[in-house]
Amino acid sequence: MTVRFAPSPTGYLHVGGARTAIFNWLYARSAGGRFLLRIEDTDRARSSDAMTREILDGLRWLGLDWDEEPTIQSARIERHAAECLRLEAEGNAYWCYCGTETLDGKRQAAEAAGGAFLYDGTCRHLTPEQRAENDAAGMPRVLRFRVPEGRTVFNDIVHDETSFPNEEIDDFVILRSDGTPTYMMAVVVDDHDMGVTHVLRGDDHLSNTPKQVMLYRALGYEIPQFGHLPLILGSDKKRLSKRHGATSVGEFQQRGYLPEAMFNFLALLGWSPGDDREIMPKEELTEAFDIRRVLKKSSVFDEDKLLWMNGQHIRLLEDDDLLRRLLRHRPDELDWVSEDRLRAVVPLMKERLTLLPDFWSNARYFWEDPAEYDADGVAKRWKPGVPELLAALLPALEEAEFTAGALETLIRETAERSGMGAGKVIHPIRLALTGATASPSLFDMMAVLGRETCLRRLRRA
Ligand code: GLU
Repeated sequence: MTVRFAPSPTGYLHVGGARTAIFNWLYARSAGGRFLLRIEDTDRARSSDAMTREILDGLRWLGLDWDEEPTIQSARIERHAAECLRLEAEGNAYWCYCGTETLDGKRQAAEAAGGAFLYDGTCRHLTPEQRAENDAAGMPRVLRFRVPEGRTVFNDIVHDETSFPNEEIDDFVILRSDGTPTYMMAVVVDDHDMGVTHVLRGDDHLSNTPKQVMLYRALGYEIPQFGHLPLILGSDKKRLSKRHGATSVGEFQQRGYLPEAMFNFLALLGWSPGDDREIMPKEELTEAFDIRRVLKKSSVFDEDKLLWMNGQHIRLLEDDDLLRRLLRHRPDELDWVSEDRLRAVVPLMKERLTLLPDFWSNARYFWEDPAEYDADGVAKRWKPGVPELLAALLPALEEAEFTAGALETLIRETAERSGMGAGKVIHPIRLALTGATASPSLFDMMAVLGRETCLRRLRRA
């Protein structure tokens, strides 16, 4: 079993493309098959090596590996052209001399009459003499596939039996006047030569498939199994696009999403394990993946859900691993915060993180005295009696053992003796130490901050 992902390097790796790649990868890895890459760079004007690198980096970042060197489509033009000529020699394609002007005129007339333009087959019946005359006159020519009569039926893993009447498909071009093959031809020859057995790609390619099936037949190739994956929609149920915000995998990487979360999230867009599992590492997804459970219905890209998943995957990371990833998002001005300090903070913040860069703003009180205090917090927590109570606590803190356990006992006992509930003391201390109303466990935090810092901040508050 062999599948492939065939991006065109004319743009970034879009989340829709990444989802297609992930489904192919999961299918190959779960079935012990091959996952190949093909760079469809035949549109030389719009393709670039930089984009190819971006796409490959994006795939690697997601944790996708591929078998064999990627196939570069532009290197295979001669092979595609040779197969085009074979189709012509075998009577399945013919030279067409209708110039762009003539065709444009016919297209406009068809559109004015409210119909879609289908090539009318003018050159289908040229005699060998007429062709020779046109060639001798140096008229530009393209090669068109001779669409047979009837219907084209194929089985699709997602859509089941799918059928198109051939009369709705015109004799499409397979070789351009400059001798380059069109996408339709290149994709079929390449999939055949690469031994692709299953073509899993976006629903936007569904209308190309009958043409490709006809080409497979005419070329005498074995037809692969097709599977067209449902589109990904934005929150307004329209096709996901730039309007909805980030759509390239690189943007999500920069924003501090984990590849594990992105992988998990995209794998569940249009597929489900059949139970209510949601947080699934790659290995678990590979184990559970079953291509027959791809959904027909489009799925909505819900970024809130992705955020939530990111938090869940952060909790699954080892502390050291999380620290390494956080460091990649460290703002330059914080390069002085020591790794020892960070190593102590990471386990405390881990439960509270959704995006990696947030760590650096949310945890700032671990390396910076608060510049101000949350106003609502002050109104709610800084009650009469609180400053006196904290002042009374200071001498004890000067002596105390600075471990979470010892601090907890000390503070709770002090609160009890004063007749205030523990909460009435804990919240103001948090406010004094962090300037904020929420933080990790106060006692763990105090132990990490250390005696000197805690005393300084409490005095100042
Ligand atoms: N290169 C095409 C694209 O990026 C994919 C072709 C295919 O999967 O058949 O949309």
